[in-house]
Amino acid sequence: MKKVLSTSLIAGVLLVPQLVGAAELKSGTLTKPSNEAPTTIVKEYAKAKGEFKTLESKRDKVGQVVKLQQTVDGVPVFGGIVVGVVDNDGQLKTVVDDTKQLKGLHKSIKLNEQKAVARYKELVGHKGAYELEPAAELVVYPNGEEAVYAYEVTGTILDADEPSRWTYFIDAASGKVLNKYNQLAHAKPTNGVTGTTYTGTGIDVLGQSQTFKTTKSGSYYYLQDSTRGKGIYTYDAKNRTTLPGSLWADVDNVLNTTYDRAAVSAHVNATKTYDFFKNTYGRNSYDNNGAALNSTVHYSRSYNNAFWDGSKMVYGDGDGQTFTYLSGALDVVAHELSHAVTEYTAGLIYQNESGAINEAVSDIFGTVAEYSVGSNFDWLVGEDIYTPGIAGDGLRSMSNPAANGDPDHYSVRYTGTQDNGGVHINSGIVNKAAYLLASGGSHYGVSVQGIGVMEMGDIYYRALTVYLTPTSNFSSLRQAVVQSAKDLHGATSTQAVAAAKSFDAVGIN
Ligand SMILES: [Zn+2]
Repeated sequence: MKKVLSTSLIAGVLLVPQLVGAAELKSGTLTKPSNEAPTTIVKEYAKAKGEFKTLESKRDKVGQVVKLQQTVDGVPVFGGIVVGVVDNDGQLKTVVDDTKQLKGLHKSIKLNEQKAVARYKELVGHKGAYELEPAAELVVYPNGEEAVYAYEVTGTILDADEPSRWTYFIDAASGKVLNKYNQLAHAKPTNGVTGTTYTGTGIDVLGQSQTFKTTKSGSYYYLQDSTRGKGIYTYDAKNRTTLPGSLWADVDNVLNTTYDRAAVSAHVNATKTYDFFKNTYGRNSYDNNGAALNSTVHYSRSYNNAFWDGSKMVYGDGDGQTFTYLSGALDVVAHELSHAVTEYTAGLIYQNESGAINEAVSDIFGTVAEYSVGSNFDWLVGEDIYTPGIAGDGLRSMSNPAANGDPDHYSVRYTGTQDNGGVHINSGIVNKAAYLLASGGSHYGVSVQGIGVMEMGDIYYRALTVYLTPTSNFSSLRQAVVQSAKDLHGATSTQAVAAAKSFDAVGIN
């Protein structure tokens, strides 16, 4: 399958240099003990760098994690984030400083939100309807050497050859496009049925017997699991392209026909992915607030693809040769839902190095989920489905990215503009580091002691949810992962040493 950028809605791919100024991580005893609220402590520390508002403040194993958004007169600075971890004595122990330089910023705003949306529609050039109407938000955009006011505009399109969710940054004075990328996201609420929970049985795509939760309402059992978060729902598109289709209804709660298999797999794999994040990381769905997990199967006819449209997973049946029912693989489901977790946590921009980290994180949690659930675990990744905005191609290998032509060391990274700046290509470098951290081995003359799949996953999960920011690059990733290993296991622990070595081995300093 082609990557979506080669069949993009817009002719030509415009890529600007990565936003300037990567995050800096500092650790140690950064402030004296204090009785102030953690948000106050972090704001006080950061105030020399500008204005901030609190994005999040939450307790975790190590302390209180505070995330601040950089602002100018209340307008958010795109990618401008400070993260602070405050211990129980009110001392700041770790800071990620990703504040942006705002050189040359002056307030020149000629477009309003409606004009920005109109400009966006003209640029995207889509004739049909939008699944989610474009919405514009005024931001301060660090644009290379100088900062400008811009509108960040995003809309979702499903009724095209390839679904897309383009984000454009449009200069608020000139209307010029400053940057753009394609990433699907954001959930909409779902309406299920009201009824009683039952346990259904059925046969999945791989021919295995499964049990799962259904809801009985009237004379039907629906594929609606109301016991997890805000629910897990599976729909039938009946080989049409109208979404979400109808909530899957079965008369006897036994789903054992060939037509049922895709639905059984989608429902069970969504359940397993939900349980994986809940049981392993204490995360209640991708937004950590129980967001409903929706799946639609039998989308279109012989459709050789699957995608996450921001509110649901959508699976084709495959043509029976290149693909079978695409809901069959757990790592496919977990990969896509991990993109949603990333969006709600680090917010890694789907472009260049931050985009490659975004992709790698999805590969990593897809694989950790497989391992954790005991579902055909290996270091191969089924990237045979649609990722946010990008259709992947065949399988990737995390243990040996080079086998699929992907780089396994920073010195051989891809520097072109295809694939959003190589998000599915340079992910190989991070995947290799994660593989080495879990399994150990020697690479480019560097030996890494393996710490196991689950411990590797714990460390990356902490890095993702605490220390990574929208514009993190590979070097920030190293800092985030090593710090997470230190947080969880101690500064001189085997795990922290192995984490650092795993990045040495792939040439990330
Ligand atoms: Zn992906």
